[in-house]
Amino acid sequence: MHATHDPVALARELADDVLFPGALEADAAEIVPVDRLDRLAAAGFYGLVGPGDAGGMGVDLATALEVIEIIASGCLTTAFVWIQHHGAVRALDGAPPALRDAWLARLCSGAVRAGVAFSGLRRPGPPILTAEPDGAGWRFNGFAPWVTGWGRVDVVRAAARRDDGDIVWALVDAAAGPTLRAEALRLAAVNASSTVTVSFDHHLVPADRVISIQDFDAWQAADRANLRLNGSLALGVARRCAALLESEPLGTELVACRRALDAATPDSMPEQRARASELALRAATTLVVSGGGRFITMDHHAQRLAREALFLLVFGQTPAIKAAQLHRLYDGPHG
Ligand SMILES: Cc1cc2nc3c(=O)[nH]c(=O)nc-3n(C[C@H](O)[C@H](O)[C@H](O)COP(=O)(O)OP(=O)(O)OC[C@H]3O[C@@H](n4cnc5c(N)ncnc54)[C@H](O)[C@@H]3O)c2cc1C
Repeated sequence: MHATHDPVALARELADDVLFPGALEADAAEIVPVDRLDRLAAAGFYGLVGPGDAGGMGVDLATALEVIEIIASGCLTTAFVWIQHHGAVRALDGAPPALRDAWLARLCSGAVRAGVAFSGLRRPGPPILTAEPDGAGWRFNGFAPWVTGWGRVDVVRAAARRDDGDIVWALVDAAAGPTLRAEALRLAAVNASSTVTVSFDHHLVPADRVISIQDFDAWQAADRANLRLNGSLALGVARRCAALLESEPLGTELVACRRALDAATPDSMPEQRARASELALRAATTLVVSGGGRFITMDHHAQRLAREALFLLVFGQTPAIKAAQLHRLYDGPHG
């Protein structure tokens, strides 16, 4: 059990004493070592955004963002697998009572760990994962291009589109079988996040696993409003680089970048997300440059952080973020 109940202090302790010292090892592993996720669970962080009645920490948004940034500054691979879980906690909090009772407390404790498969919703054009009715349940058909944490998650909160365009959100067992296949992807960074493409071949989703049916336009509006969170991963990488460089200007820039992300509206968020990922990239590049050749060897954190910063340019990208990034990279002034 942990001695302190201050989530931010607890996150700092874990990040600096456990996650960061093992980050190179986690980066090089085939799959993120489970004890790192167990430590997050033991500290209560699988229930970071869960309600108190289900054993969650129930922290406010500002605290959640700070904790995510700190955990990411310790080890992005670990943070990346863990961050996929919180959407399931929030969704199950609002799920039908039987579903909530069956899953929420176990999700908050980390006894059950969740991934997510919704990025297909962001792809323009015909849905790549559809839901066809089957009795009271559904058959999911198609694919989810990115599902992180395979082998470390028990369930996946998956989104499939019905005939009328609405989204069926369901908790699907993360288990391969004749109607569900997972194909591993090799990544240049966070490879141990065990990210796969999942294919569904008329995979049966029972009615008691349906979390909600959501109007697609309502989801799009919510997605635009939810883009702040992944910005904390970039802040985490920049934070670690600033600490390793002992750079005051970088620290000041980090504070300004964080404030701008916090203050951003859905309209200005893509620009601020682009700014944060660029800051992470520049901070990591500076760190590599500061150490010369030695820092590009595989046993130095600098090259790991640089690869991670590169990855964060594309993870969670939306068309608007991509446009803002390209504008900054080609035309925009830095800052
Ligand atoms: C390593 C990794 C792990 C991930 N893990 C998960 C996960 O666990 N769960 C999950 O749900 N998601 C996950 N994602 C998805 C992440 O949220 C996506 O990066 C994001 O949704 C964009 O997906 P994409 O890169 O596949 O975009 P693509 O669909 O390949 O498109 C590439 C870019 O072009 C834009 N684009 C595509 N078509 C058009 C068009 N016609 N007009 C204008 N712009 C267009 C896209 O928005 C995107 O910016 C992961 C991504 C990565 C890279």
